[in-house]
Amino acid sequence: MRAPTPAEKLLLSLGIDSAKEIDVEAIAWDAGAEVRFAELDSCEARIIGYGNRAIITVEERSILPRKRFSVAHELGHWKYHRGRSFVCRKDDIGNQLKGPTDPERVADSYAADLLLPSFLFVPMAAKTRKATFEAIDEIRAEFGTSRTATALRMVDLGPEPAMLICHGAQKRRWFRRGDDVPDRWFPRDEIDAESAAMDVLHGHCERTPRTLIGADAWFDRRDAEQYEVFEQTVRMATGDALTLLTFKSLAMLT
Ligand SMILES: [Zn+2]
Repeated sequence: MRAPTPAEKLLLSLGIDSAKEIDVEAIAWDAGAEVRFAELDSCEARIIGYGNRAIITVEERSILPRKRFSVAHELGHWKYHRGRSFVCRKDDIGNQLKGPTDPERVADSYAADLLLPSFLFVPMAAKTRKATFEAIDEIRAEFGTSRTATALRMVDLGPEPAMLICHGAQKRRWFRRGDDVPDRWFPRDEIDAESAAMDVLHGHCERTPRTLIGADAWFDRRDAEQYEVFEQTVRMATGDALTLLTFKSLAMLT
């Protein structure tokens, strides 16, 4: 297992050893930050710091997993960008298009480590044995996290090599490839007509079962024709299609 990150070290130092104990407001308080909830018009969350104290304000009308992620995200700013104030819009939090050194992504990464720490996530994900949305739902019920945040974690730390791809009506918005998946597997811009992901994108269903499909439906490479992948797609609150791909053939992974 990888070495604990700063957020994971903080949890360990607080003696937290189960998902249900991750109380972000208490953790924030401990770090000198008071959390308030209010109706915010121009942003999803913000942090104003002065000296060793800060006030984090989070949009109260958002769903609980979102609010928890926002608190953890602001704590990421508190850890790494102390001395600056941040006003984080919906687009800033959990935006997969920003580069890894962007302050918003740094804060997101801290939030993922705080809410889904590897020392708790990896053993639970290993028990599910497969990277599916059913497994993700089981895990996020324990951790109180969103489906997308949990699915991203599944790609990074789950029981099998996987890829997560988000498509909007026009084309692919973003994707995340697990460390075990070679770079040559770069997903197509558009969803293939053969893929059941199309039904989800068109709103005909909310979720597809995990199904085998020719890898060429997802990858525009000549050698893709020889392989099959498992695909499973769910409809996001935004209407976008979120697909998990896992690999049937080990040859794709070498
Ligand atoms: Zn932010």
